[in-house]
Amino acid sequence: EAHRETMGFQAEVKKLLDLMIHSLYSNKEIFLRELISNASDAIDHLRFAMLSDAGLHEDDAELHIRVSYDKEARTVTISDNGIGMTRDEVVENIGTIAKSGTNEFFQSLTGDQQKDASLIGQFGVGFYSSFVVADRVTLVTRKAGEPSDQGVRWESEGHGEYVLETIDKPGRGTDVILHLRPDEDEFLDGYRLREIVKKYSDHITVPILMPAEGEEAQGDERINRASALWTRSRSDLTAEDYNEFYKHLTLDVDEPLAYVHSRMEGTHEYILLLYIPEHAPFDLWNRERRHGIKLYVRRVFIMDGSEQLMPSYLRFVRGVVDSNDLPLNVSREILQQNRLVDNMRSSAVKKVLGVLNDLSTKEPEKYATFWKEFGRTLKEGLAEDHANQETLAKLLRFASTQNAGDEQNVSLEDYIGRMKPGQEKIFFITADSYAAAKDSPLLEIFKKKGVEVLLLSDPVDYLFGTELHEFNGKPLQSVVKGAIDLSKVEDEPGTEKQQEEPQPSANEIDALIERLKKALGEQVADVRVTTRLTTSPACLVVGEYDIDPSLQRILKAVGQ
Ligand code: ADP
Ligand code: MG
Repeated sequence: EAHRETMGFQAEVKKLLDLMIHSLYSNKEIFLRELISNASDAIDHLRFAMLSDAGLHEDDAELHIRVSYDKEARTVTISDNGIGMTRDEVVENIGTIAKSGTNEFFQSLTGDQQKDASLIGQFGVGFYSSFVVADRVTLVTRKAGEPSDQGVRWESEGHGEYVLETIDKPGRGTDVILHLRPDEDEFLDGYRLREIVKKYSDHITVPILMPAEGEEAQGDERINRASALWTRSRSDLTAEDYNEFYKHLTLDVDEPLAYVHSRMEGTHEYILLLYIPEHAPFDLWNRERRHGIKLYVRRVFIMDGSEQLMPSYLRFVRGVVDSNDLPLNVSREILQQNRLVDNMRSSAVKKVLGVLNDLSTKEPEKYATFWKEFGRTLKEGLAEDHANQETLAKLLRFASTQNAGDEQNVSLEDYIGRMKPGQEKIFFITADSYAAAKDSPLLEIFKKKGVEVLLLSDPVDYLFGTELHEFNGKPLQSVVKGAIDLSKVEDEPGTEKQQEEPQPSANEIDALIERLKKALGEQVADVRVTTRLTTSPACLVVGEYDIDPSLQRILKAVGQ
């Protein structure tokens, strides 16, 4: 007995369908992602159920998803041999929108189509996205473990109602048959369908099959890699596996410098697999450049280059973030205001900084390579990421008066370890070039006292001292700014004592300062006596609270 009945959709379903067709119109292909994801969920459920009920095998143990099309009938079919549904379950899962959050969804609708369309992204679009490309959808299903005459046929044109029928279905699982709308012929094409499957579902762990095409083609072929390496446990993976995957992911020919792989459990579940490349991409400094993180939701590819998952100063990091909790249809807008995303981002940042810290202590040569390629990018974090400033400061490397060359390899910890008795501050100089910094007359007193000065000449170095004020309790002091007092630091032994010259009287000094002030007029704010010079007669400095000269140059360059 067919037990055929026609049932009405909830009013909300109709509303949702209208909204969806409108909002997904420009990205229709995602129907395939949604249906494959449902099929994959159904197979996961079956696998789980089989653990306690071996009878569910039904001699059909090769779990798979199959995508096929029929040009004559103008249909695309997505089949799985997963858990399937009973008649009641079909009514419950497909006929109504009983999903949690749906009520909130409808309450938050504004009536403004544009706004509502973007709201849809917060709730999975799921099965109903079929109606974006199909004007009729047939779903045939049989629950695992039920007799074959307990199959169910559901069909709808997506308007007000659907038809249910009990049928015979020998194979367990679900077929979804899409009767394409008249102008959707692009999906009646094996290459197009393969392309979409690869794009979104390459890492679904279940094999996705399609009928082989071409001259000698026969049978089905598997079209997804089904690897999802990041879902495997670390102990099952070798460094080689990780490096291979990196190359597949980035098309980089070199191996990565380092990686971190971690599964986060608890209220939010997600997996991070992040890589530090060895070389900077040619467009690292292009603001428009996509960030290097791919977002997945339950193994399904969602989007590339999401800047919500990695701050700009870590834009060189490549890898995968796979969330178990985000909806599949999550949009960039949603990512910007989502707590789960903030959470994933901040732990991703911590993981990356942790890897860099390990590299810097355990593999200093690799860290030196990293610093050459990405040091300037990382420094932007001083301004961008105050929460991690301390960790970042530890990772910084500088050229220094202690070094013979311009190599940036002195850390703030190294510096503090070499501070002179009586020295209270970390001194640095910013200039346009390494040479200009190194040869500045402002360094004379430091040479005399044997006090190390960090030599900063990258444009981004203006952040030093403005964003970062101290390290391990030692204040940072620009030697270009304000007064420098090294009176508590002894002269370097061996520096010859200056020949004792007759000291000028206080009156003579005052008179000289008056004359200089008059001569220089508006060009200077003040003229002062200094102890910082040993051989040069005078130098220019800026006030303690004035803008650093190198920043002034940057602002001028951008027209401020
Ligand atoms: P979601 O996947 O977010 O739950 P969908 O609209 O995609 O939302 O699917 C609704 C429900 O329909 C699913 O939760 C599931 O119970 C059921 N369903 C959909 N497709 C299948 C399938 N291929 N096999 C078994 N159940 C399915
Ligand atoms: Mg779904």
